[in-house]
Amino acid sequence: MRKSIVVANWKMHGSTDHIKSYVSDLHTKYDSDVITDVDLVFCPPTAYLQSLNLELASNEVSGANHCVLDNCKIGGQDLSHYVSDGAYTGEVSGRMLSDLGCQYVIIGHSERRQYFGENDNLVAEKFIAAIKSGLTPIFCVGENKAERERGETLSVVKRQLQEVLDLACGDDLLNSVIAYEPIWAIGTGLTATPEQASQVHRYIRDLLPNKGISIPVIYGGSVKPENAKELFSEVDIDGALVGGASLNAGSFLSIAASI
Ligand code: PGA
Repeated sequence: MRKSIVVANWKMHGSTDHIKSYVSDLHTKYDSDVITDVDLVFCPPTAYLQSLNLELASNEVSGANHCVLDNCKIGGQDLSHYVSDGAYTGEVSGRMLSDLGCQYVIIGHSERRQYFGENDNLVAEKFIAAIKSGLTPIFCVGENKAERERGETLSVVKRQLQEVLDLACGDDLLNSVIAYEPIWAIGTGLTATPEQASQVHRYIRDLLPNKGISIPVIYGGSVKPENAKELFSEVDIDGALVGGASLNAGSFLSIAASI
């Protein structure tokens, strides 16, 4: 039985005030009868990891609707490929993310690849760094619009996964999550149809050791409360990586409740 997981990728959004009101909304709107057996992973900017973690753990919110946020975890949006401490200005290591309470980290998001020049080799090294630090990598793959139109979706996804498959050993992959995020669907309002997503998810699973039987493969790209149920009705879609809609606690919870 694979774990279901819904990840909030806040990207470069947020503030101390936003965290306070967001977590207060979570406390009042979270319904543990509806959201069962789903990990909710919040990935704020690194600067806010600690305050979000403290806020989530706080039991100060009181009242009839106060709900303990048992399934909520935190994760980083990126990490350094350097594992040991050292003179690497601006870098944040996996050990530091773990130390701040993270259990997960997003690796190889298309925005990191596109704007920060991260190539397949570097993201594979980051994958290994995450595993060495005891974090679960949420490894992102996905094609751009031109690649889809040229019919290259599966070969692009295979190329992106291959370096990880080469560097990692089987057990490393067992503790990971793969996120299929077609770039043309990220932040555009366009979503892959459940069939399009499912086809790629099945293909990814086939590439993984043991056919990825225990590895969650989640979908990302304009997931909203309106389309989540349809996507999650596919057996090969184990959850979602949510950008824009995750900035609103109510929307994010309603996506999680659709699993
Ligand atoms: P989106 O972003 O939900 O805003 O499309 C998803 C992502 O980039 O992880």
